[in-house]
Amino acid sequence: MKTPIIIGNWKMNETVSETIRLLTELKGLISGKQEVEVVVAPPFCSLYSAEIAAQGTTIKIAAQNMHFEESGAYTGEVSPPMLIDVGCKYVILGHSERRQYFKEDDVLINKKVKAALENQLSAVLCIGETKEDRQTEKTFEVIETQLREGLRGINDSDAENLVVAYEPVWAIGTGETATPDIAEEVHAFIAEKLETIFRKDVAQTIRITYGGSVKPDNIKDLMAQAHIDGALVGGASLNAETFAKIVSYKD
Ligand code: PEP
Repeated sequence: MKTPIIIGNWKMNETVSETIRLLTELKGLISGKQEVEVVVAPPFCSLYSAEIAAQGTTIKIAAQNMHFEESGAYTGEVSPPMLIDVGCKYVILGHSERRQYFKEDDVLINKKVKAALENQLSAVLCIGETKEDRQTEKTFEVIETQLREGLRGINDSDAENLVVAYEPVWAIGTGETATPDIAEEVHAFIAEKLETIFRKDVAQTIRITYGGSVKPDNIKDLMAQAHIDGALVGGASLNAETFAKIVSYKD
């Protein structure tokens, strides 16, 4: 049985003081909820204060990106050991905004996924088709390529620290959510492909999350789908009450 996981991607929002305020409020609202793994991903400069603010709770901290090298002359970059050092347990990799605005491709994302797993950081590999891909019936081809290339060279023993986040690009920040049926169709496809990449019993432990305009009023129907194991939440994770309602979808 997989533990559901809800990840809040704060993107480029929340200063240190805002991070402490948001997490303090969130803690009060979700304390004692053990049945769902809760992760928040603040910007780099707020990670350490987020870790301190989350102490004594089960909330875990994620970074939104990282470099694949451990150290060196890479101005402006942050390494896996640095993320571990500030208390991160997860790192989101290959988000569509990284692919679109920072030209990250599958080869680079694969290096980052490998580096995360080698450093005992759990990797959340984001994959998803654009509106054009969907309109031209390329969804499954795009998803399979991003999945296979992103996971190239990852072995069964590392897969336990992997989460795959399906995020249709056309649903991110648009208010347009994939219907539970549309999301489930792609999640089932990803689950099937994972079984061809990893040993079957290993593949079946990998959580596949949905992301794209997740809100308190659609989370329950999404989570009711057989292959949806969690959610990656952007905009709605910036309000403690709204995010707490999403986390409490079982209540
Ligand atoms: C995201 O950024 O990963 C995301 C899913 O954003 P939103 O929930 O705002 O669509």
